[in-house]
Amino acid sequence: MLPRHRNILIALFVLFALAFAGLVVLFHDRANEYAVGEAKQQALNALLVHRATHAYVTKIQRPEIYRLQDEGKLYKGYFSPLVMSFTFISRSMKDLLNLEREKRGLEPIYFKLASENPRNPVNQADAGEKELLRRMNANTLGEYQKVVDLEGQKWLYLAVPIERSNKGCAKCHGDPAAAPAELVALYGDKAGFHESPNTIRALISIRVPLRGIVEAGDRMAQVFTLVTFVVLAAIYLVIALLIRRIDGQERKILKQNSELERLSMTDLLTGILNRLGLQQHGEGIMKSADRFHHPLAVLMLDLDHFKQVNDRYGHAVGDAVLKRFSKIIQANLRGSDIFGRWGGEEFLILSPYLHLKDAVKMAEKLRLAIEEAEFESGIHLSTSIGVSEYRPGEAATTLIERADYALYAAKESGRNRVVGEPPSAVHE
Ligand code: GH3
Ligand code: MG
Ligand code: MG
Repeated sequence: MLPRHRNILIALFVLFALAFAGLVVLFHDRANEYAVGEAKQQALNALLVHRATHAYVTKIQRPEIYRLQDEGKLYKGYFSPLVMSFTFISRSMKDLLNLEREKRGLEPIYFKLASENPRNPVNQADAGEKELLRRMNANTLGEYQKVVDLEGQKWLYLAVPIERSNKGCAKCHGDPAAAPAELVALYGDKAGFHESPNTIRALISIRVPLRGIVEAGDRMAQVFTLVTFVVLAAIYLVIALLIRRIDGQERKILKQNSELERLSMTDLLTGILNRLGLQQHGEGIMKSADRFHHPLAVLMLDLDHFKQVNDRYGHAVGDAVLKRFSKIIQANLRGSDIFGRWGGEEFLILSPYLHLKDAVKMAEKLRLAIEEAEFESGIHLSTSIGVSEYRPGEAATTLIERADYALYAAKESGRNRVVGEPPSAVHE
């Protein structure tokens, strides 16, 4: 896979992983929020049931009893918590509510009317509730809500003040002497009296167990997490497949391009570099000679009287001779030499790391190899070679021109010979 595509896939993977992690955290958060919201709803339901009960007791039940007492149908000292104490009634309602909850598989709700000065000790406020009452009386706290760890599980705790005491309340919570005789007989004259008017006498403590609701929320979050994972994985897979396909196509094009480039620089007949190939490689070699200060020699080869081969044996034999010629030369070169067909029956060798003198020696070796070789149809041939050495900074055309000039000199002086610049240096 192309590095660019691999990087895209890695970046996408990281992005998707981050998005997934973020969403999982979000789902978990929302599940908790949902659990607390649901618990709050249940607590409020219990509170509303209590409020309705309270209203019914104070507004309907008690006035009815007072009316019966006023009309002498009921004696004055009558008091029964069963119908007159809304604390008692609330507790009973809570028990009945929990029974109903149990029938529906719901965990019981904790519900308490907590007072600092309760008539019944079961309603005694604990330290935390006392503190809340203090703050509520000082008007620095309205409602109080918190998730608490208790009895090995989490609960939503809600504390709401009951209304401030008024004249009606003082009837039973003021002076014990004014309270119904049966009330005093039942609870004594110590607890639950002498209440100051306009105080918040009690708060309602409600605790709703969170476990069941949290589990439901978690199950929901798990479903969302799974769906998100599947969706993200599917999207990633689709993108990965698309990128793979694009990658395959792009690599094919790149391969074709490089093959085209190679072909554009290859001589079809001999399979060695053509003039374009020589120019491309030559540029690189000249740059490296400039940068690393190494010598560079150019050998220009031209077959002698090649036209006669064509004339005598035909063009096909001429072609075969040219192929063979390039094979023999190639076989006598070093790995670092660049060899190509300059055009027609002219060839060029770029030989890095060689000074003129050694390049002339090498050209001589090549000349001999051609002279000694037997070509198709028993043909014997010779070649003339011009040699020049690169002068740092000069243009390629100038360097080749000088080799060509030396070659011309070799031809002029009788062919089958090597001439290195200056043209006077002739080797036969
Ligand atoms: P000289 O010694 O002066 O170089 O003589 P020459 O005959 O080799 O040179 P000339 O330039 O007169 O002729 C070159 C010949 O090479 C002419 C052309 O037909 C032949 N030639 C060039 N390219 C090809 C090729 O691809 N195939 C064949 N068969 N012949 C070619
Ligand atoms: Mg020629
Ligand atoms: Mg020739």
